[in-house]
Amino acid sequence: MSLFRKAGTEFERAKRAVIGNEEAAFVCTSCEEDLTEEHSHCPHCGEATVESLE
Ligand SMILES: [Zn+2]
Repeated sequence: MSLFRKAGTEFERAKRAVIGNEEAAFVCTSCEEDLTEEHSHCPHCGEATVESLE
């Protein structure tokens, strides 16, 4: 059962990222801010940790 709960949590986390910003296609893995555009450096924390959500 715990495996299902973990998978559900991961899914909810991904879904929340989309709902939080309808256009969010990227996320900063450092501060976890959703981003609508790709940035070489995160505009929120300045880290080069922006990754595509796809
Ligand atoms: Zn950031």
